[in-house]
Amino acid sequence: MTFENLLKAFMDGNGRLTVLSGAGISAESGIPTFRGPEGYWTIGSREYRPEEMATHAMFSRDPWEVWAWYLYRRTVCASAAPNHGHRAIVEMEALLGDRFRLVTQNVDGLHLNAGNSPSRTFQIHGNLNFMRCAQGCCNTLFPFPDQVEYKKKNQAVTPVEKELLRCPRCRGLARPHVLWFDEYYDEALFQAETAFQWAITTDLLVVVGTAGATTLPMHIGHMIFKNPRAILVDINITDNPFRTLARNHPRGVVLDGPAGDHLNKMVSTWKNHALSIR
Ligand code: NAD
Ligand code: ZN
Repeated sequence: MTFENLLKAFMDGNGRLTVLSGAGISAESGIPTFRGPEGYWTIGSREYRPEEMATHAMFSRDPWEVWAWYLYRRTVCASAAPNHGHRAIVEMEALLGDRFRLVTQNVDGLHLNAGNSPSRTFQIHGNLNFMRCAQGCCNTLFPFPDQVEYKKKNQAVTPVEKELLRCPRCRGLARPHVLWFDEYYDEALFQAETAFQWAITTDLLVVVGTAGATTLPMHIGHMIFKNPRAILVDINITDNPFRTLARNHPRGVVLDGPAGDHLNKMVSTWKNHALSIR
């Protein structure tokens, strides 16, 4: 069956869709992925990679450098707008309603800004628009204090900002609401288990713009691979582990190219199909 016919048959049934998104979908909004040189951060004479900066170990050693990096990343995200790929996923939710869920690794909040509903969106790596207690005194997500300024690259956190970046409850250090590379997934903070259970029992899994370097998304990919009825789609501009899974899956589909174009083609297929059967 062609991909178009698979999509039409999916729409006619009552199967569920999961979109699993990564940094690639926000690349078209101007937010660099972790694969490019923009992710590097200089401390003294040393360059650090995102995989080193985004760790609890680094935060414990040098919290204000890690905060400075996040305040810069938050600035990049705040000046970015959702693109046509994000909007296509909003249309998918509108078309499929409760058959739809979005699992995103992105911390930029652009899916929610575009209009996906918070109740059907699992931000399994957090959201940079929030901070929480670094001591873990509570699980409350606190919005960023307005007074914390947007930052240029390698701009230091000021003494006034250091006072603002504190847990409003216990006054200990606050931290960005993200999952670091040396931390475990967590249900209470990231709905990781709920997202996983939904995704592995899904009928159509669309993986978009993900390098497959994080564990929960890869686990989802391997579990869905075992389900011969599920359709597994990988949208990316390069080879990646999900593409390998899709290539070897009986109902795997590889879509090579920018996220936004392919997602919009899928939406067009569904919309035209809905019109033709009216
Ligand atoms: P990644 O940076 O590791 O990989 C990005 C992937 O997107 C690559 O496979 C690349 O080929 C693909 N890509 C790039 N441009 C694309 C385009 N236009 N269309 C389709 N695909 C494209 O990203 P990841 O696997 O999502 O994440 C690793 C970690 O980085 C995650 O924890 C995530 O939270 C974090 N991260 C988030 C953001 C964000 O929130 N926007 C940005 C960078 C990294
Ligand atoms: Zn606290």
